[in-house]
Amino acid sequence: MPTLGNPKGTIEILKKYHFNFQKRYGQNFLIDSNILEKIVESAGISGADCVLEIGPGIGTMTQYLAQSAQKVIAVEIDRALIPILEDTLSPYDNVTVINEDILKIDICGLIREKNQGKPVKVVANLPYYITTPIIMGLFESHAPIASITVMVQKEVAQRMQVGPGTKDYGALSLAVQYYARPQVVASVSPGCFIPRPGVGSAVIRLDRYEKPPVEVDDERFLFAVIRAAFNQRRKTLANSLGNAKELGVSRQQATAALEKLGFEPSIRGEALALEQFARFCNCLSREIAGFS
Ligand code: SAM
Repeated sequence: MPTLGNPKGTIEILKKYHFNFQKRYGQNFLIDSNILEKIVESAGISGADCVLEIGPGIGTMTQYLAQSAQKVIAVEIDRALIPILEDTLSPYDNVTVINEDILKIDICGLIREKNQGKPVKVVANLPYYITTPIIMGLFESHAPIASITVMVQKEVAQRMQVGPGTKDYGALSLAVQYYARPQVVASVSPGCFIPRPGVGSAVIRLDRYEKPPVEVDDERFLFAVIRAAFNQRRKTLANSLGNAKELGVSRQQATAALEKLGFEPSIRGEALALEQFARFCNCLSREIAGFS
């Protein structure tokens, strides 16, 4: 069995199984052992941990995880990779491979079945075409997840950790920071993958809060307001919300809530931090209900 995590061993396995890369699945396999060690170290994996890996590919990172964790659950969509994983992971009896789409699987049910509902750590070199739906799906499932340590496109990592006043600040920044504390732990060049991606990458660790850092009356309303604010980010917040018919908020109601909180009525959503969005939404929902 060749050692994975380097170009030679990876190419040998790919040739042995006549594997064809599927662009539609975002397949860029890691071939750098330093980066693999760095990911597992940054994720803080110990012998007591259960790890959920999304997209194990040919099992390169899975091998590192299996050596550090108590057990690994690996969810891979590409059926062609399953016989390869059976081969590369045959030395490990603590890995379960599941041939499923991570966006369709019941994550709470999976963790209940495989880890008695106890918190897992998610570790992955994510398929870039669905980074945001995967991360939001993990948070919104409210599954017991202690942390998420993932390789993503460099710009996406940047978007997750910035605050107001930067061009990268947006709905993803606010959503991630509502659920977790983000920290970029490594920058990774295209040469660390086969095939080379067309963009730079970064590893980001998201530590899940036990309780969100802000208090909101209605979480769904907060996210609907944030989405509407950034759908038309160059417009004023009051206009963006008034234009988002599905919200059921008028421009006048939004302006009244802004004035009540001492904000300029012409302020844009991109100027508000998470805590300000939370206060605004609480005030706005009371305004709509006619309580104020
Ligand atoms: N972990 C491997 C590595 O680091 O070498 C492969 C990472 S590759 C960037 C992404 C992997 O995710 C691929 O194996 C791909 O087939 C898989 N994948 C893509 N979409 C998926 C989905 N919806 N559910 C589960 N796995 C998926």
